[in-house]
Amino acid sequence: MKKLLKTNKDFGNQYLDFTQLFEKKLKSPTINTDCKKELIDQYRQRNFKHEPQPFFESSEILVYGSFENSNIMAVQQEGTELNILLNGDTNTNGCTQWFYFGVLVKQPQLLTFRILNNRRGKSLLKEYNHIRVYDNNKWNSETTKELFYYRTNINHPFYHSQDSSIANLQQNFPLYTLQFNYNFTQNKSIVYFALTLPYTVSNLHQLVYHSALKHKVLCTTPLGLPIFKLKTKNKTSEVVIILARQHPSESVGSHICEEIIKLLDAGHQVQNKYRFIIFPMLNPDGVFLGNSRCNFNGIDLNRKWDMPNQTTEPEIYSVVKHIKKYKVAFLIDLHGHSKKLNQFLYGCATPIKHISDYMRVKQFSRLLQQGCDLFNYLNCTFSVTPDRMSTARVAMWKKFQIANSMTIETSLYGALKKPFEKEEFQLLGQNILNALFQYDENQSDPHLYEAQEINQAIRLIKKDGFDDKESGSDSDAEQDIIVTRNSRLKVTSRRDSTPMMAKSKPKQQSETPIQQPTLFFKNEQTYSFKRIPSYQLKRKVSRMNSFQSQIIDEPLSAQLPTIYNIPSKQYKGTLDLIQAIQVKSLSRQQ
Ligand SMILES: [Zn+2]
Repeated sequence: MKKLLKTNKDFGNQYLDFTQLFEKKLKSPTINTDCKKELIDQYRQRNFKHEPQPFFESSEILVYGSFENSNIMAVQQEGTELNILLNGDTNTNGCTQWFYFGVLVKQPQLLTFRILNNRRGKSLLKEYNHIRVYDNNKWNSETTKELFYYRTNINHPFYHSQDSSIANLQQNFPLYTLQFNYNFTQNKSIVYFALTLPYTVSNLHQLVYHSALKHKVLCTTPLGLPIFKLKTKNKTSEVVIILARQHPSESVGSHICEEIIKLLDAGHQVQNKYRFIIFPMLNPDGVFLGNSRCNFNGIDLNRKWDMPNQTTEPEIYSVVKHIKKYKVAFLIDLHGHSKKLNQFLYGCATPIKHISDYMRVKQFSRLLQQGCDLFNYLNCTFSVTPDRMSTARVAMWKKFQIANSMTIETSLYGALKKPFEKEEFQLLGQNILNALFQYDENQSDPHLYEAQEINQAIRLIKKDGFDDKESGSDSDAEQDIIVTRNSRLKVTSRRDSTPMMAKSKPKQQSETPIQQPTLFFKNEQTYSFKRIPSYQLKRKVSRMNSFQSQIIDEPLSAQLPTIYNIPSKQYKGTLDLIQAIQVKSLSRQQ
């Protein structure tokens, strides 16, 4: 077993069968399966290049990847159309959502892009039609009527495979295509495309380096990057903990965290009330490598807070150990949401004894709503469900009795008509600090609330239980497929409701041909395959982590040099900053 896990350790792109299929079926794609490995090597050798590296060139275009936070694995060009594959997260069987790459055209022209292997089934990309484009020296939000998000048609002859099991996979665990056009108006500089406004490890280091808040390196990640802790200088006993960026694709959390840090730097009055301890980037490895959800070891960090392992998720282990020192009034975990607009929160309902308890739990979200139109109170939920027990929100609420322990979700896309830009991030950051300032533990006057909410509270008192009117859904991990060597499928599904692993009967194999609508090309036939009954589907529920079977049995920090030992002369950007900061931290410690 150990050996198998070890063999499975890769850089995110070698054993997802879908990806392999695409590799085979795309006609002469240019594949850089070593993108992430290159980044790691560059990091190890201390010659990290900030200049994007071209890995595809034709007579018309150059495509760039292999830079910090980038994610692209393969490109295939057909005229003015580009088919693109993304890398899965490192050490997972393929979690794909985040994309970030650059294109330089030799002549201004209109190009069509198709990102073929997205794993997110539901996405607001479908309805709100914008992605982020860096062109003419600024990040724009590209809103276009020619943006589509649809199920990738793996039955098309383009992907035609004799192996009908592939069709079976696609039927049960589809991939999605993001298609958009972009009109290149200049051929002088690289145009970058990303899911949301990127926020890199370098951006964080710039921020930390220039902030007036005290900072400390709490621990280093498997890749050797620092986990920063920032704190305000006041001595107030009650503490607000802010966490951000457990999930690399949710860069909105970092943007809001940055605004919070800047406001505290500027002396926001909330500091008279609370001391702030901020962990601004809990997953720098994932961010650096362009992962979507996991850390370098393939772990979804927000499913590990109840029992973090020092070897596989040192980031969380150290933070949990650290939090217990404080009297925590608020724990705020900043995330991004791909299925809803605006901002909202998930709180924890405490056992209700009196109507005022319920009102107290909801007070903070009420204050957020009153302070800013971008916060949507109606989307807030206060459920504590078994599948969320190991999130930061619930685990810390339970372990340290932090009544106001919450996940704040900010839409990756923004508000109805407008994506979130710096201006909105400032408003949202300010709103959080203002609400903290206004929060009053003793303020629980039911008259401030609507009859409907009071009724809800009364029902809960009768039940002596939790608010279960809606299920919480902190940024879902998608269903995932683990294809092991004996071709049996292990499926982890978060849609099941059984809290612990539950085996179900092997799925009945149907002889009905799978027919799917084809959206990929015009005038195509629909190809069908018979399902073969060789697969046995096992469903289990992961209350911890969809990727937990990918646990690495060896501390990666043992293989990678820590940057304490490395002399820095010629390195620019991130590494210089990391080093400068670490040297400072070290000398302070000594
Ligand atoms: Zn998240």
